Order: sequence, then C-alpha cells, then structure tokens
Amino acid sequence: MSNIPPLDLTRQYQVIGEEVGAAVAAVLASGRYIGGSLVESFERQFANYIRVAECVACNSGTDALYLALRALGIGPGDEVITTPFTFFATTEVISAVGATPVFVDIDSQTFNLSLAAIEAQITPKTRAILPVHLFGQPVDMTQVMAIAQAHQLRVIEDCAQATGADWNHAKVGSWGDIGCFSFFPTKNLGACGDGGAVTTQDPEIASTIRQLREHGQSKTRYYYEAVGINSRLDAVQAAILQVKLRYLEGWNAQRRAIATCYQTLLHPLPDVILPQEPASGIGVWNQYTVRLQSQVSDAVLGDGGGYRDQVRRRLQAQGISSMIYYPLPLHLQPVYQSLGYQAGDFPVAEKLSQEVLSLPMFPELTREEQQRIVYGLKDALSSLTP
Ligand SMILES: *Cc1c(COP(=O)(O)O)cnc(C)c1O
Repeated sequence: MSNIPPLDLTRQYQVIGEEVGAAVAAVLASGRYIGGSLVESFERQFANYIRVAECVACNSGTDALYLALRALGIGPGDEVITTPFTFFATTEVISAVGATPVFVDIDSQTFNLSLAAIEAQITPKTRAILPVHLFGQPVDMTQVMAIAQAHQLRVIEDCAQATGADWNHAKVGSWGDIGCFSFFPTKNLGACGDGGAVTTQDPEIASTIRQLREHGQSKTRYYYEAVGINSRLDAVQAAILQVKLRYLEGWNAQRRAIATCYQTLLHPLPDVILPQEPASGIGVWNQYTVRLQSQVSDAVLGDGGGYRDQVRRRLQAQGISSMIYYPLPLHLQPVYQSLGYQAGDFPVAEKLSQEVLSLPMFPELTREEQQRIVYGLKDALSSLTP
C-alpha cells in the first residue's frame, strides 16, 4: 500500500501542468522577469477576488506582514496584540520592525486568538491587533473590528493559511486595514516558489507598500524616501498564480468536502475533538486538525514518548503521515525569553499544542485514502486503550 503524504503537490501538477508550463514558457520567452504586466494583472485579479481596491504582490507572506507593519508606521515602543499559536513569521515581523508582540490566549474551539482576552491587554502603547486565520478558519472579524474601532487600533490580518475564506460574506483580507497573504507552495493558493501579497482598501497604504517593496524608491528612479527592502513577486510566479487562481474556488470546495467527510467518518470517536467551522464563516481547511485527549497516563505508556507521539508512530507504521502544528507556543520560544512570559500564562494554547494532530489534507486526497486514514487512526487509538 502506498504512503499517504500530508499533502501531494504532484497530483495538482498532473491536472494543471500543461497550462502552468505554457504560462512559464511565455514569461521565459518574453525576457521580462521582474515586474511588468503579468505581475500587475495578477495584482488586479487578486484584488478583485478578495474584493478590495488594492493588492500589492511581494516576495513572501513574511514580507507581506513586515511591509504591512512598516506601512502603518509601527516600530520601536509599539505593541501589537496577537496569538501565541501560529507560525513564527507572524510575530517574527513584529520583532523585526522593533515593536513588541503582546500575546493573548486562544479559543479552544477555533484555535484562533480569544477575542474576550484582547481588551485587557490594550495599553497606551498598543497600535494594532494582528489576528491569524489559523488552519483556514476565519476569525470573528466583526468583533475584532469593533474592538479596534473602540480603541482606535489598526488591524492587520494574517491570511497566510486562509486564502478564500469568508467571514460574514466577505473574504478575509478585506476586513482589516491590511490583509497579508502567502503563496508558499503548501498554502491554498501556492506558487512554485515563494510569493506573497497585501490587500487593502486604502490607496495610500498600497502606495507606501509599493515604495517599501522597492527599496523605498520614490517615483523618480534612484531617489529614496524611505529605507525599504527588495521584495518583488517574480513574473514567473505571477504567471503561475494567475493560472492557479482560476482553480482556487474549486480546490477550496474540495477541501471543504474532505473536511465534511472526515467529520462524518470520525464522529463520534472518544477522546478525539474534531475541528468546527464557525457559524458565520466559511473556512478553507488549509489543515484538518484534531485534538487527541489521552485518558492514558504517560506512565502507562512507558518511555515511547507521549500519547500523541505513540498515535503518530502507529499511523506512520500504516503509511499515514500526520503533522504537529505547532508543538511549542510562541510565548515559550527561546527567542522570546526576554519578553518574560512563563509556562501557564496561556493554558489553552499550551494544552492544545500538546494535543493537536493534523491529518492529511489536500484537494486531491481520495475517499479511499480518507477511509484508510480514519481506520488507521481508530486502530491506533484502540491499540493504545488499556
Ligand atoms: C506561511 C505563513 C506565514 C509566512 O508566509 P511565507 O510565505 O512562508 O513567508 C505567515 N503566517 C502564517 C500563519 C503562515 O502559515
């Protein structure tokens, strides 16, 4: 029996390979590799898709977040409220601009930052809220925007895992001052390399970001008004992304169907908590992440690692991959020791980081493979029950 990977991009390539190949060949023949009309037309298409006025493409999701913070003038002495349960890039950029990440705990149902916890962390130094639509599940943006308005804060959405997700009939990335997207190959809309974009309704923000992504260069070439970075989207990636954007809604629908199928097949399974889609949102399932709640103590399990490790090993023995996003919340990372957080500060994030297990999830995953994954998981769990 063949192995089931966490995701398999070769299956997608089998479907769109010819189209992508032709688009790349056209760029190669054009001799125009940086900037140009393909990047601009992709920016327009992506802005239309998210239903915002402006899109500025850049080199990665990390750069998108960095450029967003810079464009809002966030820097030393400023605080940004965000979640400790996300990919490191989210807070790395807050630190990179010289500001301080201020964490709040997360909600155990949505894996996203706990909105009820935000207001207690607002200080005179707070400049922005940075919600992350983790695993493709939209944050309640109605509430985030209400809190931001009441306290005159900016909102930067980290949409890296949620391209195409909706909150209350509007796409994520259209709610805050700025939306930040990643086109890393494993994201819902992935390039064949690095890529990213920011979206905004504000033409001034867009123009500042255009300047910052090009070394801070003014409208006059070789005159500089700011210290920027070099963060452009290659024409080859723009051409590939134009092809793939046409497939995105279909792929996201397939991800939703797979999530529904997991939900049906796995319910009810004792000690496994399944992810739930929020009532006013449509998620795009970048990950399908369950929580394993062991009734078996580590002492009973012996020294083969914790309960989750044992489950993973039993899945792997059956050729089934699984992933852990994320094993250590950011407030406990070595790099943030100086911020003074301690174990126990965010009990939900800390508990979930011990429990989460992401099952294979990609649009081309077959029903047979899903059956095998579910039988495999049930088998692993029952073999561990005393
Ligand atoms: C992937 C990711 C990023 C960074 O995107 P890159 O394109 O890899 O730089 C930022 N935030 C989150 C939540 C991500 O998953």
